[in-house]
Amino acid sequence: MAFSLSVPALAIAPAGQPWHAAAAAPALDGQTVSVPAEVTISPLAHEDYVSARARTSGSYAQMAATFTNYSGPIQWPFRAGVPISTDFGPRIPPCFGCSSFHKGIDMNPGNGSPIQAISTGVVGELSRVDNGGLGVYVTIDHNIDGQRVTSVYAHMQPGSVTVSEGQSVDVGDILGMVGNTGQSTGPHLHFEILLDGTTPTDPYAWLSERVIP
Ligand SMILES: [Zn+2]
Repeated sequence: MAFSLSVPALAIAPAGQPWHAAAAAPALDGQTVSVPAEVTISPLAHEDYVSARARTSGSYAQMAATFTNYSGPIQWPFRAGVPISTDFGPRIPPCFGCSSFHKGIDMNPGNGSPIQAISTGVVGELSRVDNGGLGVYVTIDHNIDGQRVTSVYAHMQPGSVTVSEGQSVDVGDILGMVGNTGQSTGPHLHFEILLDGTTPTDPYAWLSERVIP
C-alpha cells in the first residue's frame, strides 16, 4: 500500500484526536516531501496498526502523517510527518520475546527512509550488526535544557549506519536507514526518548512539545 505523505492529516484523521492543532499548522516551504514510488508500507506494518488501534482507543497511532516537522533545534527523526503504527505504553507483546511495555513509538515512513538526529548530541552505544533485540541501532546523548536525554533509533538496515560512537552530530544529520533488523515485524523505526539516559518517556508527547514553528 503506497500513499502520499502530503495528504493533510486532518482530511483523513478520525474525530477526536488530540493532535489536530499541531497537524493543522500551516506547512512551511520545503516541508512537503514526495514519496518515491518504491516506498511502501508493508502489510505487516498495516496489521500492526490495526491491532494497535483496536487496543488503544483514543491513541495517536494511525496511518495518516502524524506531525509537522520544523527546522528548529529539536526535530522529528523524519523530515516530514509519517504514520505511527504503535504508540508508547503497555501493549500485548506483538512477538515472542517482545516486551509488554512499549518503550518507544513505531514510525512507518517506508523501508530505506533516512533517519535523522533529533538534536545536537554525541553518538553513544550503537550496533552495526543485527544481534536481535533492537537490531542495527544508534543512540545519541543530548543535553537539552540541562538534562541528559538519550534518543534511540532501532531496527535500521544493515550497513546503513553513518556515524560512530563518540562522534558529534547536528540536528537533522542522517544516522542510517529504516530497516527490519532485530525483533521487528516489518520495516519501521522504533524510536525512544530516555530521560537521564534511562527512563523512557512518550516520544510523541516529548517531541510534540518541543518541535514547534
Ligand atoms: Zn517499537
